[in-house]
Amino acid sequence: MKTIGIIGGGQLGLMLAQEARRLGVRTVALDPAADASAFAACDGRIVAAYDDAAALEELCRQCDAVTYEFENVPGEVLIPLAERYNIPQGFRPLYDSQDRLREKRNARAHGFDTPDFAAVDGLRSLRDAVAQVGYPCVLKTRTLGYDGHGQAVLRSEEDLAKALPLLAVPCILEAFVDFDYEASLVMVADGEKVVTFPVGRNIHRDGILDLCCVPAQELSPGLEQRMRRTGESFMRACGYTGILAVELFVKGDRFWFNEMAPRPHNSGHWTIEGCTTNQFRELVRYLAGLPLEEPRLQAPTVMKNILGRDLEAAERLAAERCEGVFVHLYGKSESRPERKMGHVTFVGTDAADYAARWAGKFVQ
Ligand code: AMP
Repeated sequence: MKTIGIIGGGQLGLMLAQEARRLGVRTVALDPAADASAFAACDGRIVAAYDDAAALEELCRQCDAVTYEFENVPGEVLIPLAERYNIPQGFRPLYDSQDRLREKRNARAHGFDTPDFAAVDGLRSLRDAVAQVGYPCVLKTRTLGYDGHGQAVLRSEEDLAKALPLLAVPCILEAFVDFDYEASLVMVADGEKVVTFPVGRNIHRDGILDLCCVPAQELSPGLEQRMRRTGESFMRACGYTGILAVELFVKGDRFWFNEMAPRPHNSGHWTIEGCTTNQFRELVRYLAGLPLEEPRLQAPTVMKNILGRDLEAAERLAAERCEGVFVHLYGKSESRPERKMGHVTFVGTDAADYAARWAGKFVQ
């Protein structure tokens, strides 16, 4: 029996372990919190800090293949381990995604359009960058930003003052894209084949993903084909294997790369029930050396993210056991209004059905 190691024990690790078990694959997760979500579904656990070299080595020793479920695993930790153990995705996709400037340059060099951008390392280069990119634009810290943290939209000269706190660290300035909607493309590659999941529409609330609607009504089959083909050739050109999620901005029949993550993605959770195979299962298949399966959409599907404020509503829904409604709760011990506590997948439901039948059950 194969064993997969997971660096990180959050909800992504939990769902990965659940899918691994369905495929007869064992898992061991490493996380600093003794009550990490993933431990509930793993066969083994290592409670240790992410930079504890001895503990990470122990994880590698216990496993046939090791993966990660968050982006900020440091290279100093992973590179030496990847030389001696089987960490098949390696450090490269993490390295390429850990810095927004490097990430956008890499995306452009390998076939994606990106918003116009420029590097910023102080007020002077901010002025030069604004002259190049124009207003409106978005200033972002190059590293460690997430869900809209570490960024500011600049609409005119007057907004430059609000950029000042960000300039303490290296930044990137991007053209503001007046997109129609956001979408994401989740892909798994094994070095020969690349499988891509159907593309949906992502709807954010306060900077956090709220809903994924698949298929996106606005997305024509031709445009979706182009997204999938661009993604596939990007994976091949970069030489990435394993899983990659790319977030896109879409306007009319154009799309732009926003950012990527070489791990399962929140916008792919709907695939667990909405597709014939899902993002976690395909990652396990890749890690266990099994051939990849081509995913097919089962039915229109909507995923609703459950933050702390919606936890009670999700628990009520779980108790109702309605047809086509799948409630996932991650078992986190502490609930906070903005913390991701679970998600609910509505299969056989499109965006209009969701708005009419289900949206009212959650905090508006
Ligand atoms: P990010 O952390 O880069 O994903 O940005 C968080 C959110 O800010 C995105 O989901 C978008 O809604 C918005 N955003 C980021 N960059 C841009 C941009 N260049 N143009 C318009 N909106 C943006």
